[in-house]
Amino acid sequence: MKPLTLRTKLTLFYSITVSVLLTGFGLVYYRVLAAGIDTDLKEDVLDRTSGLRGYLRFEEGQPVVVYDMDDPDEVTFIGRAKRYYQVYEIRTGRLLDESDEFRSGQVRFSPADIQHYAETAPEFVDIQTDQGKIRLRYEIVTSGNDSYLLFVGASMQPIDDTLDSFLEGLAWVIPLGVLLAAIAAWFMAGKALEPVAALGKAAGEIAVSSLDRRLPVQGSNDELDQLAIQFNETLERLEKAVGEMKQFTASISHELRTPLAILRGEAEIALMQTNSPEQYRRVLVSQLEEFEKLTRMINQLLTLARAESGEVEVLKEQVNVSTMVQTLTEELEPVAASKNLSLSCKCDPDVTVSGDSAWIERIVLNLVDNAIKFTPPGGSVTVNVSTDQQTATLEVQDNGIGIPSDALPHIFERFYRTDPSRSNRAEGAGLGLTLVKWAVDQHRGSIEVESLPSKGSLFRIKFPSGIINPN
Ligand code: ADP
Repeated sequence: MKPLTLRTKLTLFYSITVSVLLTGFGLVYYRVLAAGIDTDLKEDVLDRTSGLRGYLRFEEGQPVVVYDMDDPDEVTFIGRAKRYYQVYEIRTGRLLDESDEFRSGQVRFSPADIQHYAETAPEFVDIQTDQGKIRLRYEIVTSGNDSYLLFVGASMQPIDDTLDSFLEGLAWVIPLGVLLAAIAAWFMAGKALEPVAALGKAAGEIAVSSLDRRLPVQGSNDELDQLAIQFNETLERLEKAVGEMKQFTASISHELRTPLAILRGEAEIALMQTNSPEQYRRVLVSQLEEFEKLTRMINQLLTLARAESGEVEVLKEQVNVSTMVQTLTEELEPVAASKNLSLSCKCDPDVTVSGDSAWIERIVLNLVDNAIKFTPPGGSVTVNVSTDQQTATLEVQDNGIGIPSDALPHIFERFYRTDPSRSNRAEGAGLGLTLVKWAVDQHRGSIEVESLPSKGSLFRIKFPSGIINPN
């Protein structure tokens, strides 16, 4: 079966609700109306009975209604009250008088009935006749030594007629109301869903090549506007991510093209000339260096790709950063010395961080490597490790070439390197700090840089210290 559309479902729901409500209201009103009319009729019969009783006399055992025939009010009242009436002698149960309507003999009470009624308090009795239902009230009337039972009534037909026409009305009003409600609901649902359809159409037209397009926001700040705003925000993130990917691909191509062109150029020149083995050796050594840089860059790229896709597991172990930094600076000392740089470390003892020792080591190595790389001979590089209650701080400071202020916000971006003329461009691919930033984030740490051109740079990393876990 084809699933119902939202519009149909809304219309159905609305129509069913309206029909239930209308029927409910109709039935309640029917009961209230019936009870009201019933009470009115009882009061009317009561009025007639007590009124007629006042005009009733008994002359030689026969009931006579005595009233002023010149008084139109009395004439009308007696006419109404005597329309349905009977008088019985209680002692014998004999019918003494009755109205014309009863003369056909449909309404007769037996002496036993009369006896029974005479012994009970005045009440109402509903009886069925050919002229419809009639409500009678009986009361005892005494005259001299004799007692009589007076019955006065009124037709219940008007009640039935009123209730019937009310039900007839309902039978029209309910379907008509439901039909109108359904039409209104269909129309309203269509109107309300129009913008949804428009949003869907607009969303369907957005492709990877047109991620800069946005869904229309009406400005009414309703749910649909919220939906469009959310969707636009998602599009914005997607656009940024796709843009970064494009940029990344372009950067990789560019980064690979330059060293490959150099390698190819060197090989071509070497082939064109007749060189001595020593000259070939030099070409090969130079190429080997280039290969190493390429390999390093590709390794870094792979690590970054794996890290960002969540494939890399960051361990949670207690890492003694103090010992690690001391060991690493000792190992790197010869590298620094070869550049005529002093490398020293000032570490508080046993500063521990909860995290992955391999990644923390990579952070330290990257920062110290950069400091050595960007500090001219004669300079110094210092690594500090300290701690307070909440944080462990790792600082790598140099008095090298520094970073221009306009470059500072970008140094953590992939492939970003400051002005190549400031350093040996071929040294790095601009991925080291990207990896450092990723690793620091994984450890819930923060990294900040203070740097002044020609004065030097200070990289400060703060880790939640001790037992706080990175994930
Ligand atoms: P690379 O692998 O090229 O060193 P990084 O991501 O590690 O890439 O660093 C990005 C850029 O930030 C470097 O190319 C350099 O211009 C700048 N930089 C990083 N560390 C320092 C530093 N200690 N002193 C001066 N510039 C630095």
